[in-house]
Amino acid sequence: MKKIGIMGGTFDPIHFGHLVTAEAARDAFGLEKVVFVPAGHPPHKRHRTVSEARHRIAMVNHAIISNPGFSLSTIETEREGYSYTIDTVNEFLTIYGDNTELYFITGADAIIEILSWHRVEELIEKCRFIAATRPGFPFNKDSQIPQEYRGRIFPFKVPALAISSSQIREMVSQGRSIRYLLPDTVEAYIRKNNLYRKENFHD
Ligand code: NAP
Repeated sequence: MKKIGIMGGTFDPIHFGHLVTAEAARDAFGLEKVVFVPAGHPPHKRHRTVSEARHRIAMVNHAIISNPGFSLSTIETEREGYSYTIDTVNEFLTIYGDNTELYFITGADAIIEILSWHRVEELIEKCRFIAATRPGFPFNKDSQIPQEYRGRIFPFKVPALAISSSQIREMVSQGRSIRYLLPDTVEAYIRKNNLYRKENFHD
């Protein structure tokens, strides 16, 4: 059985919390590799402007390049229309074969909403979930996840997730330092492309 991690997120921008989560999950769950999949056009983000996919992809590329256990897939950003995790999981099963265990890694706050995800029953049958928890946002599987899904969802404590993308966007818009919250190359990319500046900031 191959075990592959799918690191799903908007990554606007990617930061050390994401990188630590992916590496710790790879290690703890014995994953052969973790593929970062920047979200395309997420149906639940209709009300917030998300940075262009080309910027989010470039930042992920800069951030993961030095880790041979990580790779990047643009299948969601290349997809037309709304982007659903079930389509991504089905494409991964086609690529890697049915003899593969897929682990979708993302924030516990997103997984709490899993009942509202597209074709959730098929999704949970085909894929396991690693729910990364951030300090101060307790995740209790027994009260927040329906019983029939609990066996497929693994809570995962990540202290480095005290860092958040929204906090970084706000800090940039206020002209504050974001050093040591994300790789230097990602910070340089943000500065060079004027991302999250006050005049471009619509959170
Ligand atoms: P979000 O609502 O922006 O994020 C929820 C929380 O999880 C935030 O605190 C976020 O922190 C954190 N987070 C997001 N991705 C993470 C990751 N890979 N590792 C650790 N923490 C993470 O969530 P989102 O980015 O839009 O969605 C997360 C994933 O779920 C995406 O791949 C999305 O496509 C999928 N999703 C699918 C459906 C569906 O199929 N219908 C519905 C909802 C979500 P940061 O802001 O710091 O990242």
